[in-house]
Amino acid sequence: MKCNSARILKYYRVDAPDRFDLASVHCAHTGDIDKDAAGSILADDVKRLSDLQERLYAEDRWAVLIVLQGMDAAGKDSVVAHVMSGVNPQGCDVHSFKAPSAEELDHDFMWRTSTRLPARGRIGIFNRSYYEDVLVVRVHRELMEHQKVPRTLIGKHVWEERFQDIRAFERHLARSGILVLKFFLHVSKEEQRRRFLDRLEQPAKRWKFSMDDVTERRRWDQYMAAYEDMIRTTSTPSAPWYVVPADHKWFTRLVVAAAVIEALEGLGLDFPKIGPAELKEMRKVRAALLAEAPRKGR
Ligand code: AMP
Ligand code: MG
Repeated sequence: MKCNSARILKYYRVDAPDRFDLASVHCAHTGDIDKDAAGSILADDVKRLSDLQERLYAEDRWAVLIVLQGMDAAGKDSVVAHVMSGVNPQGCDVHSFKAPSAEELDHDFMWRTSTRLPARGRIGIFNRSYYEDVLVVRVHRELMEHQKVPRTLIGKHVWEERFQDIRAFERHLARSGILVLKFFLHVSKEEQRRRFLDRLEQPAKRWKFSMDDVTERRRWDQYMAAYEDMIRTTSTPSAPWYVVPADHKWFTRLVVAAAVIEALEGLGLDFPKIGPAELKEMRKVRAALLAEAPRKGR
């Protein structure tokens, strides 16, 4: 990934959304990376991320929001576990968004995610997000009724209006110093089938299986159409979508890690500078500490 990561990222980042076609990204693609090399590349990337996160935290100006979307078993949890494994838990928050609660349904669709945005200096991860409101809610129109939006406001342009609102919201985040990175983990229907079977067959994985997953699988094509439209209309220079091949988890992790590193490096993060007066004070304190004779037993 090292030598050609910029090229690969450019390939997966949706820079020309109008012309974007989901079928152009192959779910099983692995670039020209060798699986055997993947472990050590990711280990290096995890270290790099840890260093960048420390600077982000120390500088306390920028925040990073990572949005993960994908079908069930696309590998969202695994990205969180592996890519963020080296990051100090004190500087990182992960939020998983499930079907909304009664309280959440009593608010506009952005409310529940807005209250969990990362603070300056922090990395926030949304495992699913407000994008569910133009995905699952679009595929299951009846969910709109649960959202209690006044009926007169739900016209035939309702999805375009939601996309507009999302674009405006993300522009606001970008202008406030919250870097938004969005990843669609693009898994194939066949690989999802294999992963579901794995969940059913392995006792330690059964808890992850839900009957709803199979119901959603039947609407695969509707989901893909909703994802494609969403990516086309909400990929912007300040909040791009990355469409990441997800049939090989080791490759998915490398692409996400590389994208986050590239974005953080672009911020030019540095530790806050210490002025000459403070430095002088620090030297004095250091000298005083050195002069303190160590006492026995302490
Ligand atoms: P999981 O991520 O596998 O735990 O599943 C969470 C489920 O919650 C998925 O089926 C999502 O589609 C669903 N979900 C998330 N957000 C919403 C939403 N706004 N409205 C309805 N269902 C949602
Ligand atoms: Mg699930």
